[in-house]
Amino acid sequence: MELRIGLKREQEVPFGPSPEEYNYRCSLCQFEIGVNEAIIDAEIGSAKFNGYYYDGFMPVLHCLACHQATMKYSKD
Ligand SMILES: [Zn+2]
Repeated sequence: MELRIGLKREQEVPFGPSPEEYNYRCSLCQFEIGVNEAIIDAEIGSAKFNGYYYDGFMPVLHCLACHQATMKYSKD
């Protein structure tokens, strides 16, 4: 009979939260999409760099459907 003695080590699973998405909706054609926070972060960085950042700033993005800069963050 084999006796196994082993310390069960906790596996190192990086507890990475799944990337957050922000719900965006086009004010023109109502197209909706979840925008990865990395994209938002990049836009915010750009806004800060260009001096038009303000508290609570959320970038307006180009709509993939109608190609206008009309994609706005919508909370619901
Ligand atoms: Zn659109």
